[in-house]
Formats: sequence, C-alpha cells, structure tokens
Amino acid sequence: MNEPSHVVHRGGCHCGRIAFEVDAPAHPTVLECNCSICRMTGYLHLIVPRERFRLLQGEGELAEYRFNTGAARHYFCRHCGIKSFYVPRSHPDSVSVHARCLLPGTLAGLDLCPFDGANWEAARAALHAVEEPTAR
Ligand SMILES: [Zn+2]
Repeated sequence: MNEPSHVVHRGGCHCGRIAFEVDAPAHPTVLECNCSICRMTGYLHLIVPRERFRLLQGEGELAEYRFNTGAARHYFCRHCGIKSFYVPRSHPDSVSVHARCLLPGTLAGLDLCPFDGANWEAARAALHAVEEPTAR
C-alpha cells in the first residue's frame, strides 16, 4: 500500500503510552491552524487517510474531548495530556497526526500551510477546492 515516496514515521505522546505509525512523505505539507484549540497547542496537522495510520499501542489510554459541533474527536493521552493525533472535523475519514509528536529521524522537513480554522467554514471550502482535483 505504501507509495514509493512515502516513509513510515513513528510518533506518540510524551509518556510513551500512545504509539503509532503513519505513512507519509519524508517532507510533508502540514496545516498550521489558528482555531481556538489548535492555536493553544501549536498543533501542526499531518492529515492522512485512515488506512495510512496505525495505532500501535495505547488505545485504552486515550481520553476524548469534543466541543462546538462535536464532529472532531480530539483524543489525548489521559496520563500526559498530549494530543498526538485525532479525527478532524474537516476530514472525518482521515487522521490528523500532530507533526510535533513524530519521532526525529524520518522527517526531512515540514512545509507549513496556514489554515484559517478561526473562520472554519470558509477555510474548509477553500481547502476543499484545492484538494478536489486529486480526491480519491
Ligand atoms: Zn501519554
């Protein structure tokens, strides 16, 4: 399933109870969102289809936080509090991995792309227009 340009990144939470693998480019584009929750955590979204994300351990250690529409499922480790991945409102069939929670070694770099999550509907529409030509 792995595309040739993809590498396997590993990541997880601070205490190590949550661990995952994700198939993504070595130098991916990540979304830097300014919505109410992402701007507090400095979240950098590496968004991948669900089949390119594998939770290796820690499912039982996850707590879930929802707010506003409740569509996004914000998972965080109930021990160390770190949100290393979640299911975003903009991409309910995908997983958003926090690029800052990836282990060093496999990342060649990051391209930051601003996402105006504070004005979510307009920002999602703009993103959708960009992604649509290559949508699966
Ligand atoms: Zn933890």
